[in-house]
Amino acid sequence: MISRKVSKIKNYDWYEILRALHLDPPIDGGEYQITCPLHDERRPSCSINVDTGKWICFAGCGAGDIQLLVQLMKKSTRGEARTFIEQHGMYRIPKASELFKHERIEEDKPLPEIEFPFEKGRIPKWIYKRGISKESLIRWEAGVDDKAGLALPVRDADKRMIGWVLRQRVADPKYLYYPGMKKSQVLFGQHLLLKRVKTLYVVEGSLDAISLDQYGYPVVSLLGAMVSAAQVKLLRNIKAGKIVLVLDNDEAGQKGTKKGLTQLRDYGIVKYVKLPRHVKDVQEIQDANALEEVLNNTYSW
Ligand SMILES: [Zn+2]
Repeated sequence: MISRKVSKIKNYDWYEILRALHLDPPIDGGEYQITCPLHDERRPSCSINVDTGKWICFAGCGAGDIQLLVQLMKKSTRGEARTFIEQHGMYRIPKASELFKHERIEEDKPLPEIEFPFEKGRIPKWIYKRGISKESLIRWEAGVDDKAGLALPVRDADKRMIGWVLRQRVADPKYLYYPGMKKSQVLFGQHLLLKRVKTLYVVEGSLDAISLDQYGYPVVSLLGAMVSAAQVKLLRNIKAGKIVLVLDNDEAGQKGTKKGLTQLRDYGIVKYVKLPRHVKDVQEIQDANALEEVLNNTYSW
C-alpha cells in the first residue's frame, strides 16, 4: 500500500533526496551537471533537475525520475527506493493561504502597519552559502526556518512594517509577498538608508539589496525589474546625489533598465551598470574588489 500513500504527496523535496544521495545539488535548484553516479567517468555527463526531480545520463545509463536514480544507485527495488524518498524528501510545500492569514486591504488606503508573523532570528542555514552574513540577516530582521524559507520584513521610509517577502528555498514560486502589500509601492531597504545618500544603488531582488548593503553600498530593491510610478516618487524623496541601476542580467533586467532610465530621466544623475556575463544578478559577485569594479563602471543612456 506504499504506492497509494506516496501518490498522495504533492511535492517532494528533491534537493534533500539528492543531498541524501551525496550528489551535491545546488541550493537554488535548477539543472546541474555531475559525473554520473552510475558509471565511471571523468567528465560530467549526467544532468539532474532539482526542481522536477528528472535526470539523464548522456553516456547511456538511462534517464527518468529520481526514484529510478535511487533504485539504480542503491541497486534496490522500486519499493525500497520509494521508502528512501519518503524518508529523505517528504515535504509538503505550504500554500500561500496557510502562510498568510491576513486580509487583503483596499487599494487606495494607506498601507497599515502589520505584525511580522515569523520568528525573527530563526534564519535558514542555506542562506549563508550565498555569502550573506548572520550580522546582515539580523540587521534586516530575517526570520523563519529551513523548510518554509527566509522571511524579510518590508518597512517604509518611516520604519513602519508594511509587509514581508518570503523567499522559499524549494517551492515555486520562489517569492511570496504579504498579500496586503503592493510591491510596486515600496522600496525594500529604504528604512536602512542614512539621511544623506551620495550614490543610491537600485537592485531587483531582496537578497541583492542585503548583499550590496553588506558590502557597504546604500541600496534599495524594487522587488521586481520595473520601476513603478510610485517608486519614482519614493526615489525622489530619498534625494540621492546619483542613482545607479543594477538590475539582473536577463531580458527583464534590460527592459527594466531602459524603462527605469526613461522614468527617472529628469531625476538628475542616473546611471546603470553592466553585470559581467557569467553572473545572473549582483549578489552573485561575492568579492569586494570585483563588486567595486563593476559598480564603479557606470554607463549613461
Ligand atoms: Zn552514466
